[in-house]
Amino acid sequence: MTTFEELGLGTDVLKAVADTGYTIPTPIQAQAIPQVLRGRDVLGLAQTGTGKTAGFTLPMIDILAQGRAKARMPRSLILEPTRELAAQVSESFEKYGKYHKLNQALIIGGVAFGDQDKKLDRGVDVLIATPGRLLDQFERSKLMLSQVQILVIDEADRMLDMGFIPDIERICKLLPFTRQTLFFSATMPPEVTRLADQFLHNPVRIEVARPATTASTIEQKLTVIDAQDKREALRRLIREGNVQNAIVFCNRKRDVDIVGKSLQKHGFNAAPIHGDLDQSLRTATLDRFRSGDLQILVASDVAARGLDVPSVSHVFNFDVPIHSDDYVHRIGRTGRAGRSGISITLATPADQKFVDAIEKLTGKPIERFAMEGLEEARRPPREGEGEGRRDRHERARRLRDRGRKFDHAPPPRSLDEGVSMEAFRPDENAAPAEKSAVAKRQESAREERPRKEESRRERAAAKPQSERAAPKPQPERPVKPASREEKRRDRRDRYGKDDLGPSVVGFGDHLPAFLTVAVPRIWEKPARAEKPVEPAGAAEAA
Ligand code: AMP
Repeated sequence: MTTFEELGLGTDVLKAVADTGYTIPTPIQAQAIPQVLRGRDVLGLAQTGTGKTAGFTLPMIDILAQGRAKARMPRSLILEPTRELAAQVSESFEKYGKYHKLNQALIIGGVAFGDQDKKLDRGVDVLIATPGRLLDQFERSKLMLSQVQILVIDEADRMLDMGFIPDIERICKLLPFTRQTLFFSATMPPEVTRLADQFLHNPVRIEVARPATTASTIEQKLTVIDAQDKREALRRLIREGNVQNAIVFCNRKRDVDIVGKSLQKHGFNAAPIHGDLDQSLRTATLDRFRSGDLQILVASDVAARGLDVPSVSHVFNFDVPIHSDDYVHRIGRTGRAGRSGISITLATPADQKFVDAIEKLTGKPIERFAMEGLEEARRPPREGEGEGRRDRHERARRLRDRGRKFDHAPPPRSLDEGVSMEAFRPDENAAPAEKSAVAKRQESAREERPRKEESRRERAAAKPQSERAAPKPQPERPVKPASREEKRRDRRDRYGKDDLGPSVVGFGDHLPAFLTVAVPRIWEKPARAEKPVEPAGAAEAA
């Protein structure tokens, strides 16, 4: 078995590693560290939990130990999709670089520009950034990228999901061609492969197994219930299970909030975390969860991806994830390091195809269990419930589904039909309709990408009141009637030619009879009649 000493790392780095208590490098560390030290580009197919952060941090500290950074010219750049991941990498540099004097800066959204500017001015060896904020700083001329020797693109597939690929392409073009590039991604969709092909030079490909697919210490269970019973089911499962700490995953941010609040209302020690929450609140919530102060973290996939939180006793999937990959990530939060863990998924009948995809990916059927009194389809009516409730529910669901296909659900023909107006309100708990891959990515990007506006707002807010430009009053323009030339241009734009209208459907071979009838040339003016010649002598007679 390989040891850290055999990987070629310097003594100070080895000392820091020993301080953390790690004795054996993980597979990605054993394979990547010697290659990075040799100066090779690396394409690492690994996800969080595999120890990949130390896989690039340790050799980078060794390489950067030689040399000094100049003001505003970072010597290395690490791109992370989320602020939390960036903060985590920054902590790793602190932990493993404690015997070195490397300067680092964290350039992430949600933090005032002032402190970041000061650090950049002093010169940084390691710059850890989210792509949007990095470009903001570059555009503010606070940063030059011409001295970057090592570039790390971490979680490239998550960058794609969040719509960061164009930003990364732009950043890569601002860097020196001769740099070393380390590229990590859990999966390689075509767009990520294209990015790797474009920016890596003869890379060493290192692939490590997904930890969750091999973890046999996780007990996976699933129950099928009605969407509106999910919150009750979750409460019951938390109360009845021996839950030390848990992460509850929801597919949508809105539901993260709703479930978090609902748990709090019922007396649970729970808090939500998602991309729309204020950065300081996110950090505080995570710290509380890490320290054991908070028992239940309700999270979206994006917010929780890659977070280094201690292994939890339970993972609850409040919604079945739409991407089967996310299921693997979610349940990987429990059952770590040989400890046992439990993952419980709350599914509705509409989730069947997503469950099928998960079971296909993991190669394992998920054990089903029934929740007494909440079984879907077999549940007896509760006390006080009318006989027709299930029928009404079914009908409401059908209408909702119709409403998803068309933008608005058609109103009931009559309220006597027995359909309550509840049916026309969006269902908070309903599984989202299936979307195309592009739509999913765009939604994800929208979810986690208020950063551009945020940055703009931050910049505006950072200016003193006096500097903020008041919107200029726009003089009202009189509406001019379109000139002949404009009309002609408009026609040309629309139809391609000057005077032709849109093409018309012809009559084919058939010639209608009315076309064969001769018509008088009504548009031709009749020839002017000759003045009649008056008969001779008439004038005289008058
Ligand atoms: P990462 O995949 O980099 O997010 O790391 C996942 C977790 O594994 C972190 O909590 C690290 O502290 C831990 N870790 C990294 N390398 C090792 C190692 N060689 N031995 C034990 N734990 C490690």
